[in-house]
Amino acid sequence: MKIICIGRNYAEHAKELNNPLPAKPVFFMKPDTALLPPHNPFFYPDFSKEIHYEVELVLKISRNGKHIKEKYANTYYDEIGIGIDFTARDLQNDCKQKGLPWEIAKAFDMSAPVGEFVQKTKFKDLGDINFGLKINGEWRQQGNSKDMIFNFGQIIAYVSQFVTLRTGDYIFTGTPEGVGPANINDKFELFIGEEKLLGFNVK
Ligand code: MG
Repeated sequence: MKIICIGRNYAEHAKELNNPLPAKPVFFMKPDTALLPPHNPFFYPDFSKEIHYEVELVLKISRNGKHIKEKYANTYYDEIGIGIDFTARDLQNDCKQKGLPWEIAKAFDMSAPVGEFVQKTKFKDLGDINFGLKINGEWRQQGNSKDMIFNFGQIIAYVSQFVTLRTGDYIFTGTPEGVGPANINDKFELFIGEEKLLGFNVK
């Protein structure tokens, strides 16, 4: 499986990193080795001094598809979950400055913890999903899918023009504002609505 991640999909987050608002979705990928094995801590990597958290809703692709039309896109995922797009911000800033790809900053091992998934049918409105991240018991990021610049259907339609989606692939759909540094001994808890879907510690 592969992990596709959308960048700059919430206006307030794009602003906090001084990025322009995109006219088309921006995406990049992480390999399957980026998943955090269940019940594992996230080990702070020694190649970065500035690992940032980005909490994001995650779609689980349920059918193979290419050139998917936006109006059919919601038939290509059945479940929605939540994850962290861990980013080595110091390395990413260096890559951006030099115009280089972001992989060393985004695709490293354990950079994509993903929690339990929820059946799509449990949501009243996919365009109004509250989600968030607590660290050490305090809210650090709280978002709602209504603030996405590109909605789930637009993301799937766009990405599938370039990359075939396969059953089991994940799509990270972008982070709201409030990103910040992770620290050793932090306790992460990820929520959709009131429901905690993932917890892990930073070691
Ligand atoms: Mg992200």
